[in-house]
Amino acid sequence: MNQTTTTTPLVIGLTGGIGSGKTTVANGFAALGIELVDADQVARELVQPNSPALAHIVAHFGAEVLQADGQLDRAALRSRVFSQPAAKEWLNQLLHPLIRQEMQRQLASARSPYVLFVAPLLLENQLQDRVDRVLVVDIPEPLQLQRTLQRDGGSEQQIAAIMAAQISRTERLAAADDVIDNSAAPEQLSARIAQLHRDYLQLANQRAFKKP
Ligand code: ATP
Repeated sequence: MNQTTTTTPLVIGLTGGIGSGKTTVANGFAALGIELVDADQVARELVQPNSPALAHIVAHFGAEVLQADGQLDRAALRSRVFSQPAAKEWLNQLLHPLIRQEMQRQLASARSPYVLFVAPLLLENQLQDRVDRVLVVDIPEPLQLQRTLQRDGGSEQQIAAIMAAQISRTERLAAADDVIDNSAAPEQLSARIAQLHRDYLQLANQRAFKKP
């Protein structure tokens, strides 16, 4: 009898700095039938009201980290762990294994030939060992600032601070297996996405053949 094995499809890790165009690019792949796993969404879902993780957080930090509607008050939690390394460490030890486990579960259950793992902090959180290839969406920093400002409003300073807390453009590009230059008009993206899609389908096929 044949042994049934659960195999994770080829995983492409999509990353890039704030406002670089990850969501825009991810939507392009989704339109081609590729499933997405969103790291931020996994992290948010884990702390939904009535989740065991949220119960642990409230037991540790008190009900002040909850909003009136029972949702986690992220700003309140952030201010609790800010400048308290031990509290931050506790929180990371609770959440990181749960996040990794849930990501892995979602990646393994994807049904498309390959799966796109959308993770803004893929490199900052050292998740590159979880993916087969790193795909970086790249634009020059001034354009990052401009597009993020246009989308979110806020101050230039706030956005510059977020950019400074992320890995540098040079380091991100050095970790990339593939790069999408998103500095031109969005219409130009589709040809590049289609090209990468073909490459990834080929890689996924090669992998499938190599399996016993
Ligand atoms: P974040 O990390 O902040 O979630 P992101 O990397 O997902 O951002 P998007 O939201 O896809 O980035 O893009 C940022 C903004 O730039 C959006 O308003 C989007 O519509 C716009 N944008 C994306 N690509 C282009 C492009 N090629 N030309 C002009 N605007 C673009």
